[in-house]
Amino acid sequence: MPRLIHRMSTPNMSPWARLRADVDMVVVHYTGALQASGTLSWFNDPKSQVSAHYVVNRQGDYWPFETIERTLWHAGDSTWMGKRYCNRRSVGVELAATRDSGFTDAQYDTLLFILSDVMMLCPIRYIVGHEHIAPGRKIDPGPLFEWDRLVPATQRHLDVEWLGGEKLRKVLITSHVDLGKPKVTPTPVSQTEDPRMEPGKDPWWHRLVEPFRRG
Ligand SMILES: [Zn+2]
Repeated sequence: MPRLIHRMSTPNMSPWARLRADVDMVVVHYTGALQASGTLSWFNDPKSQVSAHYVVNRQGDYWPFETIERTLWHAGDSTWMGKRYCNRRSVGVELAATRDSGFTDAQYDTLLFILSDVMMLCPIRYIVGHEHIAPGRKIDPGPLFEWDRLVPATQRHLDVEWLGGEKLRKVLITSHVDLGKPKVTPTPVSQTEDPRMEPGKDPWWHRLVEPFRRG
């Protein structure tokens, strides 16, 4: 059983809250270091302008930052399925690892534990790596990350249709109807953001803030 160390806060997040129904992605990262401590203090530092919802150390212990309703800054400039800036629709999980270290069994176990938690709360359709949403700019979690170890999560939660580069078999997606799994109806983005904006357009404040964010 993964150990929750304690809940953390961070100054590095968007000031507006979001709806769980608008969160349809989980983004997997590595921190670039084997010790989690540097990442924890970096996320607490307003100068870093970065954060994530979970940090997982090599032993599988984890620190949650803020709640899922907060947009944290882990993805930076990123695009997925034609929509730019993935932070606002995703949950970020940082695994303590480097490009060459690989990941521990305990980290995979904790990631599955976190995924099942998140997927109870949000209509997750995509589980992706930072490398998939910011290709050419980011390489994490990289080729050593074993995506097939996350398949059990996608089978328990049949809404997932894309896992680390593989589009899942259609039967997984359609069978949830037969199983009567309750499905959260996503709220259109325009209802949760500035009503003055045009449908499909980014709200004006994203243009001010997002391009300067790192992650
Ligand atoms: Zn990353």
